[in-house]
Amino acid sequence: MAKATHDVIIVGAGPAGLSAGIYCGRANLRTGVIDKMGPGGQVATTDWVENYPGFPEGISGLDLSAKMEEQARRFGADIILAEIENLKEEDGLFTLCCTEGDLRAPAVIIASGARSRELGVPGESRFKGRGVSYCATCDGALYKEKVAVVVGGGDSAIGEAMFLTKFARKVHVVHRRGALRATEVLQDRAFKNSRLEFVWSSVVTSINGGDKVQSVTVRNVKDERTHEILTDGVFLYVGLLPNTEFIRGFVDLDEWGYVLTDDNMKASRLGVFAAGDVRHKEVRQVVTATADGAMAAVSVEHYLSETGKAGQ
Ligand code: NAP
Repeated sequence: MAKATHDVIIVGAGPAGLSAGIYCGRANLRTGVIDKMGPGGQVATTDWVENYPGFPEGISGLDLSAKMEEQARRFGADIILAEIENLKEEDGLFTLCCTEGDLRAPAVIIASGARSRELGVPGESRFKGRGVSYCATCDGALYKEKVAVVVGGGDSAIGEAMFLTKFARKVHVVHRRGALRATEVLQDRAFKNSRLEFVWSSVVTSINGGDKVQSVTVRNVKDERTHEILTDGVFLYVGLLPNTEFIRGFVDLDEWGYVLTDDNMKASRLGVFAAGDVRHKEVRQVVTATADGAMAAVSVEHYLSETGKAGQ
């Protein structure tokens, strides 16, 4: 029978996965944290985080992820850069077939997070990397004294639109309703920012250009009129999709593909737990992801000691 490589494998090295890594490491479990992109998850591409306790002045998403990674490593977590190709259960162990070889453990924490949803309009695929972006933090500096369009009205859209105003001379925020979904404090700041211009009750119907983006076509959903906005780039923030393709059929998911768990982060299959944005829940914040990670780790610890499966 194949031996376990770890006591627990954590899939995803964002705030949930790294927190689970810290707690599992401190519980003396042989802990593997696997991520295809390297540590950080979505927060690593967030300009500034100012609602995570302990950083009264705020902290850059990159720095926060680096600190979490350092802390997980300090407690012995193995951070593995690899992509999962397949997950199966055999002889009481979960085998994760990865690009870097197989990993085996009696417990798994799914903390694979979520990714940006595509808008699905003509021009989006064609201009990816040539004016269409899902990451203002990554690409914003290219827009010095230029014009940008941001689509969406949530925390991501408004936070990143404000970040873009550090570079761009004008940022048009196109939102499909007449009110934002973003937190009040972000809204207040956004409405005071003279470089932001709101295009209410409107949807982008196409992204246009030659070699790169030159304009977007916008339709007002109330009067059905369309007009063009000339722009150098389009940043899309229209929500998230859970990264759960590799566990479809393995554990129960909700209708949108998020993992269903109980309050102790247990998924529908014994030995599988989930934490962070990938989980079916109301609030997706760094602080709730880290709390999920801690809870999942404690549940794993209990599970392994009850079943005697640690150290196999
Ligand atoms: P979100 O909260 O789901 O917002 C998505 C936005 O896109 C909404 O305003 C939605 O409009 C709009 N939208 C969706 N589909 C659309 C379409 N087909 N066409 C046009 N607009 C569309 O997503 P998010 O902003 O990425 O945030 C995801 C989660 O992370 C949230 O829980 C958020 O609170 C959290 N987050 C928190 C922070 C922070 O605390 N600083 C920062 C970033 C993200 P409607 O409003 O009409 O639905």
